Amino acid sequence: MPVTFAAGSAGVEQIMDRAAQAGMRRTRACRAVVTVLARDAGLSAAAVHRRLADEGVAVDLSTAHRVLARLERAGVVQAVSAGGSIGYRLVRRDVHSLVCRRCDREVSVPAAVIASLLAHARRSGFEVSDTALLTFGSCQDCEP
Ligand SMILES: [Zn+2]
Repeated sequence: MPVTFAAGSAGVEQIMDRAAQAGMRRTRACRAVVTVLARDAGLSAAAVHRRLADEGVAVDLSTAHRVLARLERAGVVQAVSAGGSIGYRLVRRDVHSLVCRRCDREVSVPAAVIASLLAHARRSGFEVSDTALLTFGSCQDCEP
């Protein structure tokens, strides 16, 4: 089966550029892990490893762990606790969302809200290069 990691997944190249700027080599395993996480946020290292195997990318579990750890150090992946285990998601820029911890649903934060944040930054003499805001909680459907 052909490997489908060539191109197309939104933001993968941007993430790879940021990882490279942080000193990571653009390995096939690295690109594959980023592509998997671009499709599905919050996967555990074991789940990432299974997806890679499904896609025909042969890396062992310890390599998957190592790549995730490197991506995390490079600041492009963050570990989040999801349902009692550790999941990984890409750190995206200029994304502002409310994120449900239970169902992973994301609701965009309106631009006006971010504008007031940026205005506050300016008033504080802070020059903003980019922003990313994830606010975690429970969505309406998941509230007990
Ligand atoms: Zn929810």
